[in-house]
Amino acid sequence: MKNEIEKAYEAKKYEDAIYKKWEKSGAFTPKIDKKKSPFVISMPPPNATGVLHLGHAVMLAIEDILIRQHRMLGDSTLWIPGTDHASIATQNKVEQLLAQKGLDRHKLGREKFLEEVKKFVANSQNTIRNQIRKMGSSCDWTRERYTLDAGLTDAVQEVFIRMYEDGLIYRGNRIVNWCPRCESTLADDEVDYKEKNEKLYWIKYGPFSLATSRPETKLGDTAVAVHPKDKRYKKWIGKKVIIPGVIGDFEVTVVADEAVDPKFGTGIIKVTPAHSFVDFEIAQRHNIPIKSVIDQKGRMMKNCGKYAGMTTAECRKAILADMDKMGMVEKIEDYTHNLSVCYRCGTPIEPLISKQWFIDVDKPVIKDGKKKKSIKEKAIEVVREGEIKIVPGKFKKIYFHWLENLHDWCISRQIWFGHRIPVWYCDDCEEVIVSKTRPVTACKKCKNTKWHQDSDTLDTWFSTGLWTFSTLGWPKKTADLEYFHPTSVMETGYDILFFWVARMIIMTTYTLGQIPFKTVYLHGLIRDKFGKKMSKSSGNGIDPLEMIEKFGTDAVRLSLVIGSTPGNDMRLYEEKIAGYRNFINKIWNSARFALMNVSEEDKKLNFDKDMVKTLADKWILTELQKLIKDTDNNFKNFRLSDAGLKIYDFIWSKYCDWYLEMSKGEQKNPAVLLFVLKSFLKLLHPFVPFVTEKIWESLNEKTMLISEEWPEYDKSLVFTKDADTMEIIHQLIGKIRSLRAELKVESGKKIHAIIHGGKHTEELEKQREIIIKLGSLESLEIKKHGPKIPDSKAFFIGEVETYLPLKDMIDTGKELVRIKKEIDQKEQFIKSLESKLNNKGFLANAPKEVVQKENARLIEEKSNVEKLKELQNSLK
Ligand SMILES: [Zn+2]
Ligand SMILES: [Zn+2]
Repeated sequence: MKNEIEKAYEAKKYEDAIYKKWEKSGAFTPKIDKKKSPFVISMPPPNATGVLHLGHAVMLAIEDILIRQHRMLGDSTLWIPGTDHASIATQNKVEQLLAQKGLDRHKLGREKFLEEVKKFVANSQNTIRNQIRKMGSSCDWTRERYTLDAGLTDAVQEVFIRMYEDGLIYRGNRIVNWCPRCESTLADDEVDYKEKNEKLYWIKYGPFSLATSRPETKLGDTAVAVHPKDKRYKKWIGKKVIIPGVIGDFEVTVVADEAVDPKFGTGIIKVTPAHSFVDFEIAQRHNIPIKSVIDQKGRMMKNCGKYAGMTTAECRKAILADMDKMGMVEKIEDYTHNLSVCYRCGTPIEPLISKQWFIDVDKPVIKDGKKKKSIKEKAIEVVREGEIKIVPGKFKKIYFHWLENLHDWCISRQIWFGHRIPVWYCDDCEEVIVSKTRPVTACKKCKNTKWHQDSDTLDTWFSTGLWTFSTLGWPKKTADLEYFHPTSVMETGYDILFFWVARMIIMTTYTLGQIPFKTVYLHGLIRDKFGKKMSKSSGNGIDPLEMIEKFGTDAVRLSLVIGSTPGNDMRLYEEKIAGYRNFINKIWNSARFALMNVSEEDKKLNFDKDMVKTLADKWILTELQKLIKDTDNNFKNFRLSDAGLKIYDFIWSKYCDWYLEMSKGEQKNPAVLLFVLKSFLKLLHPFVPFVTEKIWESLNEKTMLISEEWPEYDKSLVFTKDADTMEIIHQLIGKIRSLRAELKVESGKKIHAIIHGGKHTEELEKQREIIIKLGSLESLEIKKHGPKIPDSKAFFIGEVETYLPLKDMIDTGKELVRIKKEIDQKEQFIKSLESKLNNKGFLANAPKEVVQKENARLIEEKSNVEKLKELQNSLK
């Protein structure tokens, strides 16, 4: 038949071709149009070297839904894709590959190494691009960016220079989080915490006794500290004390500092400023010298005598043995604490002193009326004042807390791959010039003309912090930047609220004096069936691409969106995705069924209000308007799961179960049938773009569904009174059907019905035919009022009374015999069950669950007998 679309929907067969068609049509690329409002999302850039994982998949699904809806709403809709160079992760990966060939980056040298990285990135970038396409993402590939492309590099250098000139960026010797394996600094929030069982060592410390978990750092001690109010140590404060040590005596100063907890250990702590953040700050406050003893590879330095060259773990063992010999170890206790580890490789962090570049987060620099604000204050303000909205709101508190406790941000990284710091040093003296290119001027101090560039690169988050505006062409004043910035929504996982979202807010408000986005939408993390985090090591991960191959993209998208609420983790497993594949098939089948009722001529019909005829038409159109209103509301509030479910419910329980069934034969109205079908395909399109586009194809429309207009709520298509009547009929038919089932009436058998319709009599009379048809009735009597009809099943819907004479439905005599037999059987069973449950032997020996189960059975059987007796009485 001409109108029949294929029997089964095979996602694999259609998806790639549909995506190509969309891309080719130019639908992904918006035009700058001052008459339209822009809607913009900057896609969180996946690592250029990565493969698509579930975190990306959920991000792409949610963003594509928002993007498609806004595109259909008529906004100038832009979704900018891109990839992140992810310096540490990428460099590690290439280093691993080189190691397999027996090479390392030092052997290759910086230039050759970076060439290797470039090749590797170019290759894997294509992988991730294709995978983003596989998800159906309708992003604008003509505007694709890469955090390390020329334009973005320019933006990074420009911001660095501005911040330097504003005195926000400084170089200093400070304590940093150091990963001895990555041989690089880490920002505070790149440090993970792992609970670990360790030991607490109580040691003799000159005249004192104190507890420490890191005895090896004793070699770097320059002070001891006590609480200012601690009476035990009052006389010592300010004194210098000689402490006997394993490599000879050394001197410490006793200082009083609020940071000391008088209840921890003996209330006195040793201070190692070079290898502890707390101690570093104490040293700064009291002007205590700093002595480094651990190097960047995590080994003891030359100044550690016989311990020099040992790892910290080796040194701890050796130094404890030596202290024990000298009688310095008093006792050893078990001790649980949170160990800081590198978030990339899990190696314990070694705090150490290093010369690094920092951003001062507290310096007042942003003009605000007469006052100046720090970049930190500004970032707090834009969220507090509601310029940026965070969804769900619970994350606001966490955001403020993080920013309020933010320390200067260490932005230099000791790796080669990334944005090289645009700072040049004079070869002869320490003069510094900040410049994008090699300086051509002579050094002011020594007249030398030779310069060398800082060997470090910038923290990846420095460049991704500029993502919303650097991708639009900044520092150039582009038309894109003017029209599309600030962007509309930043959608990402809550796990990178600080890493990234907060930094974008800081960097953008400082650089542009604009917010980067109006709304932050945070999705939850995906967990396995049992709520466990997915990871390679536990082997419980799901590969989204494998699932797409198996079940199709639409099913995968739904499984990531339905049932998920912003900011809450969700569970995902293969059966769930398979379930959504069935959902997709149902959509396909319902459209197929609808289209079987429509001719090619019908498809040319242009719907207008005059074509509305039957009660069923009016009802389905009213329901459709309700659906449009609800969907708009759900979208506005980011309730995507609710939106999807409501549309599905409409298609299934309203359109297919009722409307199509009611509008057969004379009642058929192809204009309305098609109009409603098209409308819900549009509403559904953002969620399941492929299957809806494929169905749309068979409607002979000129435009593709992706470029169609979003259905608009139309008050003139709301028929409240008719819809109410229809509701009554639905309930009526539903009740008749369930009674037929309850009484086991053969499915083909026609029965009689009498309705006392009250104020609805007239409308019900008009729908007589439909009621007869859907209720499988032989005859139908409709009266306004009347006496109760005996020997019948009665039910009431509002003031509408319905009676079904029993004699028509069943052979009373036969039925009474059957019921009597069933009651007898059941009563006998109940008797035996009761005697079992009264048997003391049984009660004593049977497991508790068995007794419980038998009790439950007894109650159930008794209630069944009650029901049968009721039925028996009604038939007598
Ligand atoms: Zn590391
Ligand atoms: Zn110089």
